[in-house]
Amino acid sequence: MKYPVNEVFETIQGEGVYTGVPAIFVRLQGCPVGCSWCDTKHTWDLLETNRVEPELVIQVDGTIGRWSHLTSDQLIHRLKQKAFTASHIVITGGEPCMHDLTVITETLNKAGYSTQIETSGTFTVLCSDETWVTVSPKLKMKAGMAVLPQALYRANEIKHPVATQTHIEDLDALLTNIDVANKTICLQPISQKKRATELAMRVCIERNWRLSIQTHKYLEID
Ligand code: SF4
Repeated sequence: MKYPVNEVFETIQGEGVYTGVPAIFVRLQGCPVGCSWCDTKHTWDLLETNRVEPELVIQVDGTIGRWSHLTSDQLIHRLKQKAFTASHIVITGGEPCMHDLTVITETLNKAGYSTQIETSGTFTVLCSDETWVTVSPKLKMKAGMAVLPQALYRANEIKHPVATQTHIEDLDALLTNIDVANKTICLQPISQKKRATELAMRVCIERNWRLSIQTHKYLEID
């Protein structure tokens, strides 16, 4: 099975439960969700004209929509060539769950990597049992796609972007029939706005949820 890889880079996970953990990010190309504030719009289209050689997507340049088809084994080979030291791999996008991620996550786990997926929850999540699944529900976005119950059931972590009280109410409605006892719920202020941060902090304290700050944006790193 081949995956359309946009870029691969090593950095520190900047948000959510794994904040501060060294990680290799594997960004897959393609996303139909249409969030207006998306900071990776270059990953939306999977254009054949932007298909490049694998070497190019292993170098960091997340500003264009280029991509290359890689198998899991080819990906691991490239990671070893780059001599990355992180053992945690974050598969992100774009929307990675447009693809069946079972093979890539199982192969990476067998090779000794821990795996994490970051998804909008709008596609069925297919991955290894040991993969940590972070669902960041994208509600009422341009494409009008629903967040799937399967994705919420499978989630280990639900990381919700918030700016206003309406976003909290949307999350409450989404989780009405979901057992969250064994899940970590994080609120993540959108765009580092002071009002959003204060709202997220207040609700996290009230409900014993976690605050997720996009530390990489404060640090001005990828
Ligand atoms: S789901 Fe993610 S990649 Fe897709 S539009 Fe929204 S923020 Fe961007």
